[in-house]
Amino acid sequence: MRYGETKTVLVTGGAGFLGSHLCERLLEQGHEVLCVDNLFTGSRRNIAPLLDNPRFEFMRHDVTFPLYVEVDEIYNLACPASPVHYQFDPVQTAKTSVIGAINMLGLAKRLKIKIFQASTSEVYGDPEVHPQPEEYWGRVNPIGHRSCYDEGKRCAETLFFDYHRQHKLSIKVARIFNTYGPRMHPNDGRVVSNLVVQALRNEDITLYGDGSQTRAFCYVDDLIDGVLRLMATGPSVTGPINLGNPGEFSIRALAELVIALTGSRSRIVARPLPADDPRQRRPDIAQAKALLDWEPTVSLREGLMHTIGYFDRHLGADTPA
Ligand code: NAD
Ligand code: UDP
Ligand code: UDP
Repeated sequence: MRYGETKTVLVTGGAGFLGSHLCERLLEQGHEVLCVDNLFTGSRRNIAPLLDNPRFEFMRHDVTFPLYVEVDEIYNLACPASPVHYQFDPVQTAKTSVIGAINMLGLAKRLKIKIFQASTSEVYGDPEVHPQPEEYWGRVNPIGHRSCYDEGKRCAETLFFDYHRQHKLSIKVARIFNTYGPRMHPNDGRVVSNLVVQALRNEDITLYGDGSQTRAFCYVDDLIDGVLRLMATGPSVTGPINLGNPGEFSIRALAELVIALTGSRSRIVARPLPADDPRQRRPDIAQAKALLDWEPTVSLREGLMHTIGYFDRHLGADTPA
């Protein structure tokens, strides 16, 4: 298929937060989109506006089972991403990452097509190298509560590179750092949605630990732009490549910013720090700049304003508590 021609694109995890934004962008580019999702953490609500589009199709399916379809490209995003949800059924999380990757790689191999993998900054674990470049091998606990996700995603990367070496498959692996924005589920459990929802409801803001741990937050539009640029590169670019915003903030600073931007009456209350919670995290994005000519453009303040606006509009009576 020539570049610029309409493609049929498979997006696994397409009814999730990132997946639904990706489906929307691919439709805007004129492609046909097959969205495959088992609706574990995703929702029909995320893709409701797309269902009227004749180029969009939703298929309820679990990627741990084989999938025989005919498509031109695959974006593999299926996997719960919030610690609360990926630890709910850790065996299923590991299966989704590993068996799901094998099935999607098998599909890509049969069709001889390009496949993208949504990997994660969690492959660096609780890092001693800061900021994290792609060459860093990470510091991951193999037997902890986060391991189903971290090690599952690491094994998926291994499989992608072995299919690339062994079967000459064209792969694109992105290590995504904490990304936030509209369409996160109000009960997602990750920090930005938790804090924004709590602030808008004037409920206590739950700060895990002393709040001195850091993260770097990327707005969803920037992230999707990076993902599309990576997929458009030639076959020599495989990744893994970091995609994230290098602006680093303590979680306490994030909580204070959310309170200021919402004008909330919420108080910050301390909660226990979850096991193996990484102390610090910030992407080194030199490779993304050089290879994709990409860097984030949306500041945390601006991205939070969009996110707050979204939750303010959607936290109605019909939202599950
Ligand atoms: P999300 O939970 O909103 O989306 C994940 C989607 O995958 C959901 O729609 C869920 O129903 C679906 N899913 C889960 N298990 C499945 C299975 N077995 N079969 C089919 N569908 C399944 O999370 P997200 O933030 O949109 O994350 C999307 C991807 O990006 C995930 O692979 C995640 O690991 C990766 N990622 C996200 C971030 C981030 O900050 N948002 C960071 C790093 C990596
Ligand atoms: N697979 C799939 N759809 C396809 C082709 C393969 O879901 O169109 C799955 C199938 O379950 C298979 C896995 O992908 O076991 C890996 O495929 P591969 O060809 O790499 O290995 P196989 O196990 O078939 O030898
Ligand atoms: N966190 C917090 N309060 C919350 C949710 C999360 O203080 O209500 C902290 C969490 O302990 C971690 C950081 O925010 O240090 C980011 O957590 P998240 O679950 O969003 O992502 P991850 O830990 O996977 O980066």
